[in-house]
Amino acid sequence: MRRKLVAGNWKMHGSLAANAQLLGALASGSAGSGNAACAVLVPFPYLAQTQQLLKGSGLKWGAQNLSEHAAGAHTGEVAGAMLAEFECTYVAVGHSERRALYHEDSALVGRKLAAARKSGLTPIVCFGETLAEREAGRTEAVVGEQLKAVLDVAGLELLAESVVAYEPVWAIGTGRTATPDQAQEVHAHIRALVARQDPGVADRLPILYGGSVKAANAESLFAMPDVDGGLVGGASLVAEEFLNIWRAAERLAS
Ligand code: PEP
Repeated sequence: MRRKLVAGNWKMHGSLAANAQLLGALASGSAGSGNAACAVLVPFPYLAQTQQLLKGSGLKWGAQNLSEHAAGAHTGEVAGAMLAEFECTYVAVGHSERRALYHEDSALVGRKLAAARKSGLTPIVCFGETLAEREAGRTEAVVGEQLKAVLDVAGLELLAESVVAYEPVWAIGTGRTATPDQAQEVHAHIRALVARQDPGVADRLPILYGGSVKAANAESLFAMPDVDGGLVGGASLVAEEFLNIWRAAERLAS
């Protein structure tokens, strides 16, 4: 059985003072059953603080991006090995904001996924369609193309060591959540595409849903058979809200 995971994507939010409160509340509120995993993906400068405040708690942590390169003359970039030094477990790759605002294509996302694995990190690789693509009936085709392009570069073995996040672009930060049925449909499609290559890998692959997940809708989304948890943006910045999302995952996993 796949273990559920709730990962918070802080995006470019936080300050040392605000993080201390949030991380402290998460660490002390993490008295769950341990049946579902929970992590926060924080901005690079806050990794040391996060490591210090979450070490020994039930939560893991990670970053929101990394370089495809291991080291060298890449001003402003951060290598996977650097994230590993801060005991990161996860790193997001291919978030739609990076694809749209920083022109990251699926081939680069595949190279970043490979770089993350080389440093022992678990990539959370994001796929998702825009509203125009959904309205044109292209959701499955778009997500399938994104998955194929990543697989062409990184290969099935590395995808098998990753977490997938289905994040419809129209649902991110909009308050417009996919219905559980809409999420399930795309998750099942992703799993079926992977199953064509290896049914065992498909069966074990965690697929998270992301896009306006809140405490009020988490349980109905996570209850779907192919939804293995959530990638949570805005709601991960509010301790009690995020803890309740994690608790929803724990209830379903127990
Ligand atoms: C995200 O940042 O990946 C995300 C899903 O954001 P939100 O939960 O705010 O829609």
